[in-house]
Amino acid sequence: MAITIIDSDSHEEIYRVEDPSVGLLGFIAIHSTTLGPAAGGLRMKPYCSSDEALKDVKRLSEGMTYKNAAAGLSLGGGKAVIMGDPAKDKSPNLLRSFARALNTLNGRYITAEDMGMSPDDMAVIAEETPNVAGLASGTYASGDPSPITAQGIFNALKIAHAHKYGTNILSKRRVAVQGLGHVGWYLCELLTDAGAELIVCDINDAQVEQAIERFGCSAVPTSEIYSVDADIFSPCAIGGVLNSETIPQLKVALVVGGANNQLATPEDGRALHERGILYAPDFVANGGGIINVATEIQRISDRSTFVSQKLNALEQTLMQILRQATAENVSPDAIAIATVSEKMVKLAA
Ligand code: NAD
Repeated sequence: MAITIIDSDSHEEIYRVEDPSVGLLGFIAIHSTTLGPAAGGLRMKPYCSSDEALKDVKRLSEGMTYKNAAAGLSLGGGKAVIMGDPAKDKSPNLLRSFARALNTLNGRYITAEDMGMSPDDMAVIAEETPNVAGLASGTYASGDPSPITAQGIFNALKIAHAHKYGTNILSKRRVAVQGLGHVGWYLCELLTDAGAELIVCDINDAQVEQAIERFGCSAVPTSEIYSVDADIFSPCAIGGVLNSETIPQLKVALVVGGANNQLATPEDGRALHERGILYAPDFVANGGGIINVATEIQRISDRSTFVSQKLNALEQTLMQILRQATAENVSPDAIAIATVSEKMVKLAA
């Protein structure tokens, strides 16, 4: 296994990790350790090129800095990516080799699950390094973060709805959910219980069939999710889905979802605002998962109290962001970034 540092002006440290003997090529990006060790998940994806993987890890790790600060955690922002198809290319030896690369960073980056990874994979990584969370067993194990992530998104959805309409009752509201994976599925459960009507899509047809059966929802092809007649759009699959092509298609009044980096560019946040669509910044709406993971990293024994206190504080932060954005007539994303940057300066002082 070889780990080499890559020059960066925007990040504290970026590494290329390579081990041809196990098919490993990936990157680790530490965006900021101002608030504590950098924490953020490990993603495995069939990237088209190493440039694409590097771009993704840089954006994702920066997002983690904002997310951890917004959630009031003593953690910095980091992320790791491995190039490859998790269904075909993932192996215990590849994960162990990646784990040995983590050891060379002496705890400055702590990994956990992201797309393409599971608690079982984290257990393999834990065989080689202590710098991993999201484990299914152990004294402080926090397990799958997705249910808490979904709970946080559901809370954010109610807050954004109340901000727009004066009520947080979602009954009969039509919600378009993109992605029925871990987060999307749990969110659909919460929305169904709240009486919302769902329109869903996923690239996985079997998942769509199961959702129709379980939630009694309707489904559309993935390309049509942006233009469906709905009140709320909830991106819960991939990043960059709010862009110059999709935003003009939206018929919704609110966008609140779990995917990281939903805005392709900051201009897209402004475009949503100009169209009168209220956007709950992703790194605030989806902070529940990292709050859950933080209990493991920080060895917190009363996990449920910690999680509910941090989720409540995150709700207050979102309310304040939306109020300020409305008062200043700007995009909530711009306010959210300014708010967390200010918070970081204060906390670091
Ligand atoms: P997942 O891999 O379990 O689910 C993603 C789902 O999206 C899959 O069912 C996949 O088939 C589907 N999908 C992929 N591309 C799609 C497309 N173009 N259109 C429609 N569906 C598509 O991942 P997850 O854990 O549910 O995470 C979803 C998103 O939320 C990711 O962006 C992730 O980074 C983010 N997120 C997850 C957590 C967490 O706790 N799991 C926390 C914070 C953020």
